[in-house]
Amino acid sequence: MSLTVVGSIAFDAIRTPFGERERALGGSAVHFSLAASFFTEVRPVGPVGDDFGEAEYEVLRRHGVITDDIEHVEGGRTFFWSGEYDWDLNTAHTLDTQLNVFGDFEPKLSQASRESDLLFLANIQPDLQRDVREQCTGAQLAALDSMNFWIESTRESLIQTISVVDMVLMNDAELRMLTEEPNLMRAAAAVRAMGPRVVIAKQGEYGAALFTEDGFFALPAYPLETVRDPTGAGDSFAGGLMGYLDSQDGALDDATLRRAMTYGSTLASFWVEEFGCERAERLTREEIDERYEEFKRITSIEWVPASGG
Ligand code: AMP
Repeated sequence: MSLTVVGSIAFDAIRTPFGERERALGGSAVHFSLAASFFTEVRPVGPVGDDFGEAEYEVLRRHGVITDDIEHVEGGRTFFWSGEYDWDLNTAHTLDTQLNVFGDFEPKLSQASRESDLLFLANIQPDLQRDVREQCTGAQLAALDSMNFWIESTRESLIQTISVVDMVLMNDAELRMLTEEPNLMRAAAAVRAMGPRVVIAKQGEYGAALFTEDGFFALPAYPLETVRDPTGAGDSFAGGLMGYLDSQDGALDDATLRRAMTYGSTLASFWVEEFGCERAERLTREEIDERYEEFKRITSIEWVPASGG
């Protein structure tokens, strides 16, 4: 099995009450790929500029991420995002977004990426997401994330893209914003009515909720005493979830989805302990599995249906 992701590849300037970074490696496709790399082979698609050097490629390659579909745009600058968080670490306040090389990017996927079994359309311009969805004709499962920036500026295009995916993973506030439904149950139902079978609402430090035809499931976040920077929490959650699904041959039954969410939350819990993807750089699969087992033990909810393991 294999997994392709299109999304931002970025440098981030981040400020939280616990510190700051001027130029952290980031972007939705980067956080996603690093998280998914603990489960499967992953291929990020996207452009970078002259400022994206060997050191950045190395972070990805050390994790076995296939970088063939990262396109170097000569003379260009890499996507840049600047944001800050106050004591409520659940809400990112965007200070600046510079699309740079994403401004006129036209994705041209390699044969291997087009043939991926699973596809994740991480947070980026929805026209680009749809372009990549159309090129990945063989993908048996396509999922999507987005954010308020795109809901406000490209709403119709985003709805069109949602209609061609199987699963939507978005922040609960953004699901409400997109559907103009203040109630989360109704908002999830409205998104499912657009086409996708599965909707997952990310709820920051409160966890995540799953909506399918068979019902509803809620998972708390892994309880942490130290959270320094939530940047990348959503993308590492998605990377862990999709990486695990890829390792399970893309099964989409509720029991598998619940395990996938638990892996996603486990990955996100490591991400937020340090800035950007710094914690990921020395994370091991053993640490992930250990925390996953601990997570199962301390959540007293019926996290897998009786038929599950
Ligand atoms: P999250 O996982 O939701 O915290 O996403 C964090 C990442 O989203 C950061 O590394 C940013 O580079 C990236 N990002 C922020 N704004 C945008 C945007 N408008 N489009 C694509 N990526 C973005």
